[in-house]
Amino acid sequence: MNQTSPDRSLKFLIAIVALMAIAVGAFIGWTRYDAHRNAVQLEAVRNQTQLADQAKLDHERLKEWPNQPPGPLPKLEPLPLNLFPIPATRDPEALMRHLIARHPSPKIHQQLLSLLNSGGMSIDLFNADRKVVGQFRTVDPRAAPTAKPDANGRIRVFGLNRNRLASMVSERDVLVMETFVYHEWLHYEQYFLATLNKNAAELETFIGDEVGQYSPESCEYFWKHEHDAWRDTCLFAIQIGVVDYFDRLCLWVGDETAFKQARFNYTPDHTVTPGHPECIPVNAKLAGHPHPEVFQ
Ligand SMILES: [Zn+2]
Repeated sequence: MNQTSPDRSLKFLIAIVALMAIAVGAFIGWTRYDAHRNAVQLEAVRNQTQLADQAKLDHERLKEWPNQPPGPLPKLEPLPLNLFPIPATRDPEALMRHLIARHPSPKIHQQLLSLLNSGGMSIDLFNADRKVVGQFRTVDPRAAPTAKPDANGRIRVFGLNRNRLASMVSERDVLVMETFVYHEWLHYEQYFLATLNKNAAELETFIGDEVGQYSPESCEYFWKHEHDAWRDTCLFAIQIGVVDYFDRLCLWVGDETAFKQARFNYTPDHTVTPGHPECIPVNAKLAGHPHPEVFQ
């Protein structure tokens, strides 16, 4: 009978146990190594995320540019006012004509009135929320078939917010509205000069919604137009006593550097005209922002 000796069985058992011990050891070693490798990978991802978050934070921090404290205002003679009482009507067109005919600036009560009466300028009393108050722009003649095109083949349009006109209740409301009328007139003057100079990039900024992206050159003109128009608008606002209106922007008009900064911060997205983010880095540079590159 072939019987396995107890000695051989024991050796076999020991060998099995030893092999199992080696296998368990190897398994523990492998899981530890795997856990370590996972921890290293996780740490690398965490570091990368932290770096990205930090870079984002640094980027946003570089964009910050709070206004300087407002400085002294220029001393200007008050303009005589011949506006009051305003008509009791709530008809926006009648109110607009009253504001233009009795505007404190001769540019408005002479030149703009004459342009409106001769058909050289169309009127657009638009519906909008309270923020958009006025808009000088030009439109394609097909959009206004009865109007007469100008030298650029465009129809000039002087737009005012009909709701703002109809809701004027105080003298201050009227004076603020006159300031917006003045501001849009200044844009008309810029268009008039650009037409004389046949400046295509400058004229591009007056053709409203028909343009896709603006060229950097047009963005520059956009900034310059708004900046120059606001400077003159603020001087006018001082002369008729509403300098503290317009989100306080005019309080910086006494210092050109501070005014540029305030002008840049005037709209939350720093665009001069909504829907044109391509102009923001150009605006930042022209405003004198210390890090215009972060707006790219
Ligand atoms: Zn403007």
